[in-house]
Amino acid sequence: MTTSTHQPSRYARTADLAVSFEFFPPKTEAMAETLWRSVMRLAPLRPRYVSVTYGAGGSTRARTHATVERILAETALTTAAHLTCVDATRDEVDDVIRAYRDVGVRHIVALRGDPATGAGTPYVPHPDGYADSAALVAGIKALGDFEVSVATYPEGHPDSGSLDADIDNLKRKADAGADQAITQFFFDNDLFERFVERARAAGIDLPIVPGIIPVHNFKQVARFAERASASVPDWLAERFEGLDDDPQTQQLVAAAVAAEQVFDLVDRGVTRFHFYTMNRADLVYAICHLLGLRPVSPVPSEAAA
Ligand code: FAD
Repeated sequence: MTTSTHQPSRYARTADLAVSFEFFPPKTEAMAETLWRSVMRLAPLRPRYVSVTYGAGGSTRARTHATVERILAETALTTAAHLTCVDATRDEVDDVIRAYRDVGVRHIVALRGDPATGAGTPYVPHPDGYADSAALVAGIKALGDFEVSVATYPEGHPDSGSLDADIDNLKRKADAGADQAITQFFFDNDLFERFVERARAAGIDLPIVPGIIPVHNFKQVARFAERASASVPDWLAERFEGLDDDPQTQQLVAAAVAAEQVFDLVDRGVTRFHFYTMNRADLVYAICHLLGLRPVSPVPSEAAA
């Protein structure tokens, strides 16, 4: 990865940049307040869309739906709902798609999901369900005029034998009608660039949007990375070394690291970014500010009123 102290706007006009923000559904009232504060802080940056993740189990699914509905009802943000096919029949998944359609969702992030027995254990599709995310993409497209995003993995998905298998899988998702792919988070931009080149060589021409995770807590992100088969470069670990008990400095370093990564991606021609917000706004807001994005008035919630 090369470092950059350039103004990103020298390489891409801010007007060309598009960002999206991913949130997860809150489990408690306190978490709901944090989420809502974050949504309202980030909304005036006019993201292309915000998305809400989807979990296994009935109560988590209901929380996703409730969160999506609240964002749609109380803001003018375009809201994408994540959806998985884990442990559900095709009819059940189709009902969720129709329910999203009925509340005004026009963008779904289509995922296979992890097995209920835990990530890393073998995935067994429901006998009457969608087999994988490519099948789900086709199912969603058959049920409505949705934009459909899919996941992709610049360092390979833990279940795939090789990066070629991942490229083939992305091609199947593109052929099924996916409109864009969002990557698993990564820290080495060379890996991302090489992956995009391989995808293009395989005839995949859909936008591949880098997923950026601000490192609020290095130990936590390192744990996520291990589960996701994403590498944590030594230089990254070194930057956070000795900061476990110093969250304030950790935040400042995290902002610098993420800014460096997105500036370098802009230098490489990237214009769309998907931020894993972890339901926290501050770092993402700061990075977007550095990218040249400024709050727009009236904020979307006022515009919707
Ligand atoms: P798929 O693309 O269907 O497959 C994953 C891998 O399995 C492929 O890389 C391929 O190697 C292999 N594979 C699958 N089918 C075939 C086949 N027919 N032939 C050969 N190989 C095959 N999880 C959630 O539970 N909720 C979320 O909201 C959520 N959001 C996410 C958002 C993003 C941007 C990302 C990157 C991941 C997200 N995940 C989420 C995690 C995701 O569900 C897991 O990574 C899951 O294990 C794979 O889902 P997928 O859609 O990538 O699967």
